Amino acid sequence: MTHVKEQTGTSITLTGIAASGGIGGGRAWVLPTSSTTVKPEKISHDDAKKELAKLDAAVKHVISEFDHLKSISKDDEVNQILDTQIQVLYDPQLLEDIHIKISKQLFGAEYAIFESFNKYIELLDESGVDWAKERMIDIVSIRDQLIKTIKNNGEELLIAENSVIFAHDVSPTEIIQLSRQNISGLVMQKGGLTSHAVILAQSLNIPCVISADWTMHDPEGFTMVLMDGDSGEIILNPSNDEKSLFDKRKTEQEEIRAETMIWAAKPDQTNCGSSFTIQANIEFLNELPRLKTHGAKGVGLLRTETILFQSKNFDVDNQIEFYRSVMDAADNKTVTIRLFDAGGDKLLDDYEAEANPFLGWRGIRMLLDKPDLLDQQLEAILRVSGDYPGKLKILVPMVSRLEEIDEIKQAIHRVERLLEIKNITFDKSIPLGIMIEVPSIALMAEHAAEKVDFFSIGTNDLTQYTLAVDRGNEHISKLYEPLSPAVWKLIAMTKSGADKAGIPVAVCGEMASRPELAACFLGMGITELSMTTNSIPGVKAILCNSSKSELKNLAEIILSINETHLINLHLKEWMQSKG
Ligand code: PEP
Ligand code: MG
Repeated sequence: MTHVKEQTGTSITLTGIAASGGIGGGRAWVLPTSSTTVKPEKISHDDAKKELAKLDAAVKHVISEFDHLKSISKDDEVNQILDTQIQVLYDPQLLEDIHIKISKQLFGAEYAIFESFNKYIELLDESGVDWAKERMIDIVSIRDQLIKTIKNNGEELLIAENSVIFAHDVSPTEIIQLSRQNISGLVMQKGGLTSHAVILAQSLNIPCVISADWTMHDPEGFTMVLMDGDSGEIILNPSNDEKSLFDKRKTEQEEIRAETMIWAAKPDQTNCGSSFTIQANIEFLNELPRLKTHGAKGVGLLRTETILFQSKNFDVDNQIEFYRSVMDAADNKTVTIRLFDAGGDKLLDDYEAEANPFLGWRGIRMLLDKPDLLDQQLEAILRVSGDYPGKLKILVPMVSRLEEIDEIKQAIHRVERLLEIKNITFDKSIPLGIMIEVPSIALMAEHAAEKVDFFSIGTNDLTQYTLAVDRGNEHISKLYEPLSPAVWKLIAMTKSGADKAGIPVAVCGEMASRPELAACFLGMGITELSMTTNSIPGVKAILCNSSKSELKNLAEIILSINETHLINLHLKEWMQSKG
């Protein structure tokens, strides 16, 4: 939630969540909320043909608009999102529904579109899953564009160049249209860090702040506003001092970004020649092009549950297609596929309400209870492995007991036997690893290590379970502290357990994407790190500029400190010493 931080003179500072880096500044422009309502209008039999023609022309016009946007965007991620939107306009069921409303129920084209789209939106809303919410805004926007086109009122919003846009929420199409008008920044009241709007803002380099409750002010009433997509700060009517401060920050940020990208292509090596491996955490296909541009050496964590939620039909064939796309993009480097980690805050359609979902039916627990789902996923992974021998690994989420490892192994053997009977080739020595994200298994690491081929530490959950702090609860977010010495102790214990059995350890939680923490992991001898692609160059910049002994020394100090704030302080000082 945003709050008024200070109000000196006429300058007002708000804070939201930093979502896409960079400084924006200029006049504020408030994007009107879409409030399309269409009244039911009856037509005669004779008019039905005309209305169907109007619908046809509007669909063609909107598709050509999308094609035009694609031709100018030249960005793979943007184009994939536009393609997804275009697909809605080809949805046979949706179009048939609109046709029936016009030709059989005799409603005008505008109302038929409005009603059919609303039904579609309602179904998505009822599904209750996160991605559906993100998708909904795209569909509302397509609905409104079709209606606007029919009304002959589809002209673009005319926004002054260099304005900062204030919106409740923005659809991907709107964001692309806004980017064509050279907007300087975007402030949204809503939004999630992984929403399409944010992904687009990042790839179009539009500074963006989300979760910013600006509505208690009237941004357009000020002559100027500033916003910082790296810190989440927004200043309405800034003073001259604040303007110069933001100017300075802008120059600094641009210099840092340009300098950092240079590190993407450098070898994964410290300045004394010690090797490490940085891989990417991937969730969506549209992230794959960044493997190359940002210098990832394969995929260290492929989260598969998001795709499961997006496609009701995520059967073996669809999974095979998805995994193959990832393998191909990884360009002969390894890909670690994590089995579905549904549950917690990532719910399947048929979930049953639980009092404590994070302590409930999640990850491996759910998979072992749903052998059909598990076997399908294992079959898809094993089939793909046949074409990429030695390049694919299986990772099991939410393991909390040693017995679960034995049970998952039995499931793998079961599926392997079935494939053998069918004469289907697969990689017979596909490595099996577990996420270390529950304290009970970190404490048993030494024994778990004897049963698996690798560990991957999920610091996001390890932090929440170690500290008993729900990672999504804003009321206790201050207590969610991954730097806690308790978390470091469990990480060290995991590493030492793995060393005894001689198996490798990786870190794939968000801690790995912070350069100073990545430095500590490397200092502890954890040489495999997996993170969001955007973080890779910045992490490499620090690791490549450090020596092994310097990092070892840093890790030893951090592991010897017993208080979080002192760990924080030491890491800050260390980062300052790195310039
Ligand atoms: C983690 O818990 O650190 C992790 C990588 O898994 P997720 O964030 O998907 O729960
Ligand atoms: Mg996790």
